[in-house]
Amino acid sequence: MLSIDCPHCGQRDETEFVCGGEAPTGRPPPDASDDIWTDYLFGNANPRGPVHERWLHAFGCRRWLAVERDTVTHRILSVRDFADAIGHRP
Ligand SMILES: [Zn+2]
Repeated sequence: MLSIDCPHCGQRDETEFVCGGEAPTGRPPPDASDDIWTDYLFGNANPRGPVHERWLHAFGCRRWLAVERDTVTHRILSVRDFADAIGHRP
């Protein structure tokens, strides 16, 4: 069973979380083409090995988290609040 160490709530079972998919990096400029924006918004690389994902602690603090997870071993490599990970705190 996967366990995630929420920075706000501590170690919790995966069943408390909802995976929001891969976390895109390198936001395109506003005038980028539709193809670039489509790939940024909907494209998933689905690589083997470490991948950056968004997870919502839906049955906890309800914060979005930036999780680095190895898709081969399912081992969690790092967990941060998503706002901290992207350098934006609302
Ligand atoms: Zn939490």
